[in-house]
This record gives sequence, structure tokens and C-alpha cells, in this order.
Amino acid sequence: MRDADITVRVSAAADPAAVRSARLGLLLRSLRDRGPRSRGRLAEETGLTRTVATGLVDELVELGLVSCEDADRRGAGRPGVQVRLVGGAVCGVGAEVNVDHLAVVAVDLAGSVIAEARRGIDGRNLPAEEVLAELADLISDALAEARTAGTTVAAITVGVAGLVDTVTQRVTLAPNLGWRDIDVAEDVRRRLAATAGLVGPVPPVQVANEATVAATAELDAADADRADMVVLYGEVGLGGAIVSGGRVAMGRHGWAGEIGHLSVDPRGRLCGCGRTGCWETVVGLRALLESATDPDDPIRDPALTLEERLATLVERARLADGRTLAALDEVGTWLGTGAAILVNTLNPGTVVLSGYYAVLGEWLRPAVEARLAADVLAPRAGGTRVSISAYGPTAAVRGGALVSLETVLSDPTVLADLPELHGGTR
Ligand SMILES: [Zn+2]
Repeated sequence: MRDADITVRVSAAADPAAVRSARLGLLLRSLRDRGPRSRGRLAEETGLTRTVATGLVDELVELGLVSCEDADRRGAGRPGVQVRLVGGAVCGVGAEVNVDHLAVVAVDLAGSVIAEARRGIDGRNLPAEEVLAELADLISDALAEARTAGTTVAAITVGVAGLVDTVTQRVTLAPNLGWRDIDVAEDVRRRLAATAGLVGPVPPVQVANEATVAATAELDAADADRADMVVLYGEVGLGGAIVSGGRVAMGRHGWAGEIGHLSVDPRGRLCGCGRTGCWETVVGLRALLESATDPDDPIRDPALTLEERLATLVERARLADGRTLAALDEVGTWLGTGAAILVNTLNPGTVVLSGYYAVLGEWLRPAVEARLAADVLAPRAGGTRVSISAYGPTAAVRGGALVSLETVLSDPTVLADLPELHGGTR
């Protein structure tokens, strides 16, 4: 989000406390995005008076989020005190529940990864309670690492491959996991509280759709074409998110972006949702593996992690294995066929190949581009680029961590109310 947007929102707000919080967030975001500066320059660049900026910087110092240090006086320029982000003061935790894996990452304000873990699971055959117990276990380890690092956890955001109701915060339906109406946030909170002796008080827990939070990570790439983009998050199925004007479209209940269940082949395969011919039945990782390998291929061993599976596929593609290349071309072509429907509808600046697609992007992208060139009405595929995510399968956890940090960036004063896991001074 640009500073100007926040300035507009600040001036429109009437509540003085809300104005103060928003201005603190504006300064914090500016220091994170543009590095250390003098109070004077910070005031100038954020459109605040020097007096107001100085008072707010003092508050941020009090919260432990920034520090003020003497600049190098040896230089020819004017000496002065530099205001600097204390990046490690606070972190956000992102977690992901997918059909074949769980993942957790803790990222601090400066973008450094403090803790990271992944675990392969057989989510289709495990009861939800067991999956959530394993997830809480991974999160608990990440909280312990944050405590060791002396970092306060802003929040925990759990991304789930399914429909998440934004109001009730319940997972309404996750077809590939076989979940219906589950309060994931409350369940995780309860499990973490049971281990409170190990990790201390439990930070706020929220739940979101995994592709929606992945889009937050993709938005972070600061690319103008990404203000209007379609994110294709490849996993066992296909998650999606639509970003318009720099914001992720949520829809009425938060269920927007379920592009994996667009019907592309009415005579096609049965989908995990019970319908026939959904897009994910031809572009999900399951479809790729079925096309590229035999049932007894070691790559299908459920004990393998996603990374191991993808590494084997990459190796085979690099060795120009005919069956692997044909399967990638088939998935890429179906991916482009569905993407063209979205490009005709939305005219995005970019279609981002995220999740597992990013790892195999060099083989998938040509087929996607060919379909867009053929199937999009607007000239030159509407100017839409096809780009490959830098985060790949970690986009959802990374995005979850960013969403968690957003609670502090939009109102740094919440930090004063957060449980301190490290019990130290701030
Ligand atoms: Zn479906």
C-alpha cells in the first residue's frame, strides 16, 4: 500500500486514537520499506509535521519497534539522528494446512525468517483432529523459536485449502481434506493454550484461505503489474486469488477465487468436491503425477515431502524424459485454457504461477502463454504477462506471516497488549 493511500485514510478518520494508530503504522511501514532516515526526512516523506513525527517516533521507540542512533558524523553531510526499524522486535506466524503437507514460518518486520518447518501428511485419510494436533505441534515449535530469538509474535494466520467464512472464521468446506464447518482458529488456540507452559501465552489466531494469503505474499513483490493479477496456487488441487486495484477480492462471504472448481471439461474426471470436470482435476499436482508416473512409481510414496516429489520431477524434466515433458505440456495447456477464461474476464497485468507451478514454471509457462495467445480476445493476450512466483510452495505460509504482521503495521499500539513470549524487557 502506498503512503498516499494511508494519508487519505488518516485524514478521513475522525477518531483521534485511530488517527494516531494509523500515523504510527504509516511511519513504521515507511521505515520498513525505505530504510533508516532522519526525523526531518521521515516527516517530510510521510506528510506529517516535524513535531507530530517526533512525538510518534518517540512512541515507536517506547514500543521497541524503532531505535534512534547518531548518524556517521565523519561524512560531509549534516550530522543527525537516524530513525531505524528494529526488525526483530516483532514477527508474524503463517501456517498452512494442505492435503499432503503442513507448513509453518515466522517472519519478522524486516522480512527475515525466524523459524520454518514443513511436514508431509496424508490429510485425505487422517481425521481433522490429528491434522490440527500436528499443526499445533509445528506452530508451538515456531513460538518457542520466536521466544528464543526475543521476538514478540503479532498473530498466527492459518491458511487452509478450502472455503473460509470471513465473518464466522470457520472453515466452511475443504473438499480435498474432507472437512466441513470446522473452527480451525479456536481448535489451534485451544491446543496451543494446552502447551502454554512451553510457549507462554497464545498470540491471536486467525484463519484464511491459503491461496488468498499466498496472494498477499505475491503482492509484496512491489510490481505495478501485480496490482491487478490472478494468482494460480498449484497444490494437490488448485487454489486461486484475484487481486484488483492492489486488493485481494474476497467476495460476499470470503469465498471468491475458488477457480479450481471452474468446470472446464463436463465429461472429464470426478473432482474431490463431488462434481465432474473441475479445472483442478486436470491441473492439480495429483493430475500431473497420474499423467507423469505409474502407480508404483516411488514418487507417489505418501511419505515423501512436496519438495522431494518436485525435485524428482524437475530432475526428470531436465533429463528430457519424454513422459514427464508430455505431462507438463498437458498440464500447462490446461492451465492456459483456464487462465484464458480469467484473462478474458479480468484483464489482469499478470498471471502468477505460484505454489508447485513455480518450481516447474520453466516447463509450464510456454504452454500457458501459447493458450493465452490463442484464446484471449484482446490483442497480445490483453498485455497480460505470465510470471513465476519467487516463493512457490512457500507463498501461503509467507503470506500468512505477512497478514499476521499487518495487525501491527496497521496499528502498532496493539503491541502493548500482546503477550510477550520472551518475558524480557521491551
Ligand atoms: Zn471440484
